[in-house]
Amino acid sequence: KKARYAALRDEPSVTKDGKKVTLMINAGLRDDALAIGLSGAEGIGLFRTEFQFLISATLPQRERQQRFYREVLDAAGDKPVVFRTIDVGGDKALPYLKHVSDEEENPALGWRALRLALDQEGLMKAQARALLEAAAGRNLNVMFPMVSEPWEFDAAKQVFETQLEYLASRKKQLPSRIRYGAMLEVPALAEVLDVLLPKIDFLSIGTNDLTQFLFAADRADPRLAERYDWLSPAILRFIRRVVLACREHKVDLAVCGEMGGRTLEALALMGIGIDRLSITPAAVGAVKAMVRSTNMADVEGFIEELLSNPTANFRQEISNWASKQGV
Ligand code: PEP
Ligand code: MG
Repeated sequence: KKARYAALRDEPSVTKDGKKVTLMINAGLRDDALAIGLSGAEGIGLFRTEFQFLISATLPQRERQQRFYREVLDAAGDKPVVFRTIDVGGDKALPYLKHVSDEEENPALGWRALRLALDQEGLMKAQARALLEAAAGRNLNVMFPMVSEPWEFDAAKQVFETQLEYLASRKKQLPSRIRYGAMLEVPALAEVLDVLLPKIDFLSIGTNDLTQFLFAADRADPRLAERYDWLSPAILRFIRRVVLACREHKVDLAVCGEMGGRTLEALALMGIGIDRLSITPAAVGAVKAMVRSTNMADVEGFIEELLSNPTANFRQEISNWASKQGV
């Protein structure tokens, strides 16, 4: 199988009926960018910038961040990179920032990600400047994690715009184009997409956190792993509504959680209209093979029917259908 996937590296990710499904990778270390070439992915759909902070003994200063981001862009070459701003706090504590690792009863629901970054404005400003400088003369895609309300997106974007104005006033070279996106991982945000979508350039669904919040089930607790399923009517219907809203507002939508890296899950996501996945590099071969053996119209019809039958065993049904189709 490995050899078969490797042979697909340079083949396009299109279905039998000619529908493109863009496959990108999730990354966080500099060398991960090399995986783009090796895996045959079309870019980095989620670059977890907090890795640099987590593996560092001291707070990475702005220059160090900037150098790192530039190296990532260099390694990615002409392929796009979506930088997610720092997602620490909760269980990803930074030992050198004492106040960021204070104990919390519910760290996943706590002072983390964009909430923390907006409160610790120095942290966010430094990162914004580092990203803007690193992308001088190139495209910059920035994504904010754990947006719960549209105003948080506005506030985060403003931090970047202020830094941009500063750089412009100093006659520094600016990025050629900047796109700002939000992650959808807090369910409440899905109820105000009519407010959010006109503001943003793209949306990316983080299914790891989204599932944990939808099911109120800790993503790190193995005792709960069997309690909910990515292939459930609740999740698929939820994401389906987000797809429809994004279509209406003509906003690019991707899924960047681990869900998209599993073949059956990726198939179900295609069935509800997702055509852009950012996944773990090791999964690109298998997912591309699935895409290339699938007929998009058929999977859409199948999933649509399944969604109207929420008492069915979704995993079983989808698995049966996939084997019958030779997917
Ligand atoms: C997610 O929550 O699905 C996600 C992609 O981000 P992380 O796993 O880093 O929280
Ligand atoms: Mg997340």
